[in-house]
Amino acid sequence: MELLDFTKFEAFNDLREKMGAKQLGYFELFDPSIHLTGIERSELEKLGVLLKPAELRVLPDKTLALKNSRVLVYNPDENWYRSRRQYPTYHVAMCAQLEEITSEQPGQELLVTTRLDDEYQLVKIRPSGEVSMVAHGFVVCKHCLHALRYKDYDEFRNRRRGYSLQVLSNFSLKEFYRFYQQYPLSFGGRREPE
Ligand SMILES: [Zn+2]
Repeated sequence: MELLDFTKFEAFNDLREKMGAKQLGYFELFDPSIHLTGIERSELEKLGVLLKPAELRVLPDKTLALKNSRVLVYNPDENWYRSRRQYPTYHVAMCAQLEEITSEQPGQELLVTTRLDDEYQLVKIRPSGEVSMVAHGFVVCKHCLHALRYKDYDEFRNRRRGYSLQVLSNFSLKEFYRFYQQYPLSFGGRREPE
């Protein structure tokens, strides 16, 4: 049986013209090893999933991805921040701190999510041993902004300190994902023959 060649199919060509689409574009067949399933996407958007650092992809621009979606990650252990007297931060890139965690504690599970929010869930273990989830405010990791040179952010150049602090305090995830498309990422699908 000969397959219909859609590039020569009048009705489709008319439609393409009406849409103003000159390029045929490309498509990717669904492959669960590189494409998130509907269930995975909804899990990532709700609470997120726990993964070891090695299970994340680091894209050439240093941002982090799981399959075909950019993600943000954080350590969900509330005690970790408490012991370091650090306000909880999430990572959007493979920064110096995340590299340190990856090499020194490769078994440390990180919470991976696609949700854009001001608060994320932390696991709190009380001295009594009681474990609970608590929502906590988060800020973006400044080392990530430095790794990406996001809006020229530079954590070491003193001359730009005021400017960089402003970039950090005005950071918005929504705006960030306008620079770095969150989903779907495409990994060079096959182009249709011209
Ligand atoms: Zn970071």
